Amino acid sequence: MNSIQLKSEDGKTSIWACGICGKVSQDQHWAEKCCLCSYCGKQVDSKEHNGIYHGACWTANHEKMRAERLERAERVTVWDGPVFVESGIVSNDGFFASLDDLLEYLANEPVESRPGFVWLSKVIPFGHIYTSDIIENKMSDMDEDAPDRLAGEDELQAALDAFCEKTKDVIRYAPDYNRVIVVPSAVEMKP
Ligand SMILES: [Zn+2]
Ligand SMILES: [Zn+2]
Repeated sequence: MNSIQLKSEDGKTSIWACGICGKVSQDQHWAEKCCLCSYCGKQVDSKEHNGIYHGACWTANHEKMRAERLERAERVTVWDGPVFVESGIVSNDGFFASLDDLLEYLANEPVESRPGFVWLSKVIPFGHIYTSDIIENKMSDMDEDAPDRLAGEDELQAALDAFCEKTKDVIRYAPDYNRVIVVPSAVEMKP
């Protein structure tokens, strides 16, 4: 029990204080957990408060989660789309247009930095913008009869269509954490 109950003089109302740092709350559950690591449940030094957990516990949990995700993932052997290197490579945030592109990049990097696997990735297009989305957003602040007084929606849509057509090459990548491909080792790569 880390919480301390504080009662008013007449004993009718009470609040709860964390028994470690003294912060108070109406909520006993909150006071109970206030200074305890959300992973291991042991006390967190106030200097280490950062969210409420030990840095080492967070790292261990994160590593475990990553290992489980990798364990569950489907192993793919053939893939010519974009890939994502989870850590260790800062170039383009870890995204490469293809496994071949990554291998080319790795050829100039130290062998130790070579990842054992990479995640497949999805291309997320810029997408289309519709007049109705813009108007709906704007209308929430307007009078009720405002929609009847709108004009020029067709012209706006034509302009948006032209804009989206010119912008269609703007894409971003997102990792697919369900599918993974093994990176050939540097030795395997040698002809
Ligand atoms: Zn506390
Ligand atoms: Zn902990």
